Amino acid sequence: MSTQLREHVQEDGDGPTAPTDVRSDWTSEEIAFLFDLPFPELLFRAASVHRQCHDPSRIQLSTLLSIKTGGCPEDCGYCSQSSKADSGIKATKLMEPQEVLQCAAQAKDSGSERFCMGAAWRNPKDRDMPKIVEIVKGVRAMGMETCMTLGMLSPSQAEMLADAGLDYYNHNIDSSPEYYQRVTTTRTMSERLDTLSNVRAAGMNVCSGGIVGMGETREDRVGFIHTLATLPEHPESVPINSLVPVRGTVLGDILAESPVGRIDDIEFVRTVAVARITMPHSAVRLSAGRENMSEATHALCFVAGANSIFTGDKLLTAPNAGEDTDAKMLRKLGLSSGTGPCSDDVVGGRNKPRENVL
Ligand code: SF4
Repeated sequence: MSTQLREHVQEDGDGPTAPTDVRSDWTSEEIAFLFDLPFPELLFRAASVHRQCHDPSRIQLSTLLSIKTGGCPEDCGYCSQSSKADSGIKATKLMEPQEVLQCAAQAKDSGSERFCMGAAWRNPKDRDMPKIVEIVKGVRAMGMETCMTLGMLSPSQAEMLADAGLDYYNHNIDSSPEYYQRVTTTRTMSERLDTLSNVRAAGMNVCSGGIVGMGETREDRVGFIHTLATLPEHPESVPINSLVPVRGTVLGDILAESPVGRIDDIEFVRTVAVARITMPHSAVRLSAGRENMSEATHALCFVAGANSIFTGDKLLTAPNAGEDTDAKMLRKLGLSSGTGPCSDDVVGGRNKPRENVL
């Protein structure tokens, strides 16, 4: 790395890691440099950015419900809900709005302030939209932040969801553009980015992240963060999953018994830290894979800038750390639930999340 670049990335205070300096012009080389920093130095930088943009003592609790499970025509190699996978998951129909609202009410009673809903579709059909709209309106009326992941969206579908009041739309980029095409063949990275543009154009907040531990290289993790951090506007929400290998899926069968089947904890924390530094105002969410993560690794992730976790016993179809386990861990770490003061200030979009309801 050139001396000039090193100075550019290493600078603190007035440099590119300052929270007000939101950049979309990160180079791959700069991101690789951050990944390579000595671990304590990387953590220090990430924690410094984090506390300037967010309340470091608060962790947002989110709940994720599968509102339509299995039978998806896509072939994402990690996913047990793909119709190409032999994971034993039974396909279901879209849940009725009242059932979803009951689940949302339970999540709210358990302390969640964000309710995310996922449907295993390539894209929603127009005939599904009235129910989806009813669900969004109902959950939002409870005072919860809403997020949906339904697959690819057309511009008009994105408009309908925005009109219904959906706060965030999730569509992950999954990995680097290069590794992505080895994991999924039925849709392209550019189709994914088109959906993100449609969401943005409709005025909703963007939720987009990916999965690490799929057998990708460090270079792919650099490419993954680089793709997100160089979008014209950073996603307001960046979920980072650690692959949970499921037997019957392509990746699960390859990785379940393999030493590379689980990403090294320090490498996972590094990924969180680099996401935090490059996308200072985004909510960085620890998603799938927490069940096997120690409290110490969670703690390092929170120091590195993660500020949201998904609670409940299940994440769509994958096992998850339960609410009691999370509550105990947060108590032990002296952390409380909720969003910090800064994130609300910086989140834009016409459906800006409302005040913390807890
Ligand atoms: S990740 Fe989503 S799009 Fe891919 S197979 Fe699973 S449900 Fe379908």
